[in-house]
Amino acid sequence: MKWNDPITELKGIGPKSAEAYRRLRIETVGDLLSWFPKKYDTFEPEQPIDSVREGRLVTVLGTFSGTPRVITTGKGMTILTATFRDSTGAILVKWFNAPFLRKQITQAKYVLLRGKVSHDRSALCLMQPEMYSPQRYREMMKTLRPVYGLTAGLSKSAVGKAVAEALRLCEISDPMTPAMRRELGLWNLRDAYEEVHFPKSEETTKDAIRRLAFDEFFRFLVGIRSVKEQTEAIPNRYPAVTHAYADRIIASLSYELTGAQKRCFSEITEDLRGASPMQRLLQGDVGSGKTVIAELALATIVEAGHQGCLMVPTEVLAKQHFAELTRRFEPLGIAVGLLTGSMSAGEKRAARESVASGETRILVGTHALFQQSVEIPDLGLVVVDEQHRFGVEQRAKLTEKGTMPHVLLMSATPIPRTLAMMLYADLDISVLDEMPGDRLRIRTAVVDTSYRPKAWKFLADHVRAGEQCYVICPLIEESDGLEASNVTDYKEMLEEALPDIRIGLLHGRMSASSKNEVMEAFADHQYDILVSTTVIEVGIDVSNATVILIEDAERFGLATLHQLRGRVGRGSKQSYCILVQGSDSDEAHERLTVLQTATDGFAIAEKDLSMRGPGDFFGIRQSGDNVFRIADPIRDAEVLTLAKRTVDGLTPEQYRKAVKLCLADKQENVIY
Ligand code: ADP
Ligand code: MG
Repeated sequence: MKWNDPITELKGIGPKSAEAYRRLRIETVGDLLSWFPKKYDTFEPEQPIDSVREGRLVTVLGTFSGTPRVITTGKGMTILTATFRDSTGAILVKWFNAPFLRKQITQAKYVLLRGKVSHDRSALCLMQPEMYSPQRYREMMKTLRPVYGLTAGLSKSAVGKAVAEALRLCEISDPMTPAMRRELGLWNLRDAYEEVHFPKSEETTKDAIRRLAFDEFFRFLVGIRSVKEQTEAIPNRYPAVTHAYADRIIASLSYELTGAQKRCFSEITEDLRGASPMQRLLQGDVGSGKTVIAELALATIVEAGHQGCLMVPTEVLAKQHFAELTRRFEPLGIAVGLLTGSMSAGEKRAARESVASGETRILVGTHALFQQSVEIPDLGLVVVDEQHRFGVEQRAKLTEKGTMPHVLLMSATPIPRTLAMMLYADLDISVLDEMPGDRLRIRTAVVDTSYRPKAWKFLADHVRAGEQCYVICPLIEESDGLEASNVTDYKEMLEEALPDIRIGLLHGRMSASSKNEVMEAFADHQYDILVSTTVIEVGIDVSNATVILIEDAERFGLATLHQLRGRVGRGSKQSYCILVQGSDSDEAHERLTVLQTATDGFAIAEKDLSMRGPGDFFGIRQSGDNVFRIADPIRDAEVLTLAKRTVDGLTPEQYRKAVKLCLADKQENVIY
């Protein structure tokens, strides 16, 4: 069986499960093998019941006592409740829609329960635990269990079987010679695939990930090197030399540009008149003032007689930018257009026509806008906001169009400089390393869950003062399906506690249009508090929001927390960030307190890196960065360096072969 054969070749995959796989973009056997577990479950030793804490995944050993109860709710859901004890205490246990367990637990002797602890009115409660015999659990403790991001229609066991079958039948040719593997200290490819799906130990799984990460980095680096070479060979068809419009915008601003903004803009103007198209990354912390730089660049390109476009990740942001740009460009007689997915067919047509006729000089839209074909006849500059959602393939696509425009990518992802130089080796980098001076620092506090009532009162006080707040709950890792219910429960709790306050709800499972509606309603102050998952990380700018409360904050990386915190402090009022630590670990506390004093995203990213111990190896991936499937540029920095050195050291002949391999994205007998 070949890497590119359809998965329906595998035993047990019929049209129905093929459809479920397709939703995960898995069509070939190779796709299936490259669908890596999103994490591994490990099985910790049991702990005494009196030591369990809310929010933790725990294992307890004991017996059931009393009679289990089954009740049926109004909505037809059954809830099975039982009491479980050991020599130190007792805990309530709940299962939903599993009445059949009643018999099992009345007969059970000594068992282990493993599940998440949460609060049920006043008592701690173990939710939906898995049940094991002591003997079985001892066996499990020696293993890692892969956890896949499943979708409806696929079960864990079906996936396990399909992957095993694929591993057994599929030819996996290794593009790397044994000599080279030895030199780099890397596993062979087949063993690596086998190990990540069927891990034997933590140690060996790390080795396997190392190999797979190397390949991913290698392909990526070859890809960007080739993109860079191609762009450098293309002449600048959209030269822009004068910047009178930009000067007029600068003169109209209510503030003075920072030194860093001036420097970055002059780097951009140099590029715009250069020999080949601009390929620049503008990196600047949240709130460092990237938008105005984009406006100045767009003004300059329009002045030279060309058109420009601004791509942003979400509709709400597109609308916000559109409003802002219209305000800025109207006085100059420059027409700005908007194109987003939710516009009616007629509106879209009108927007497209206006661009095609040349009347619209600047088009604002979502990234999706680029997937659909819009024709911008004289497109001289593409600005992409929040670059980390914009992969190298999309960049390569722009090059393919032949008439390569200037490209300015803007990112707030604070990655350390050394990493940036590798990951963005194809780009020139400008850094906005200076914050506008008038900002008040966001006051940040780390608290435990007992502080929650006070925190809610704090939110309520700010709401009564006419301000708005965010509450963020993390993704529930056990099952993506629980994500929604988690924020939903939280919203209900808040509504009960603060009945006169308008609360909105936002999470990743909502349709794009409902997400938009909620975000717009919040921006329009129809809600006072927005309870959300991290989907708001990029995409909303409400200067009236002054408090952000983040639950289970220790589950997030510092860099993500910093991004989330950047949702407030965007206006002139004092803003606050409350980090609620859900578990009582001292390390977590120490890590979170970094944010109380640190305000600079770059410093925070470095700190995050240095504080991530080996224990975090299987931790949460940097959120939002979907460029890599298994590699994590921060966690795997060493492998990235290795891959970079390898790519730089390729002979021209090897490099040509590698480009072929990487662009084909196929398994072929190509030696690196
Ligand atoms: P980001 O880099 O996060 O995209 P924005 O461009 O949205 O930041 O800028 C955040 C806010 O700071 C905006 O309200 C903007 O008008 C303001 N701003 C930008 N530059 C300056 C400056 N030099 N002085 C004062 N305020 C500024
Ligand atoms: Mg921005």
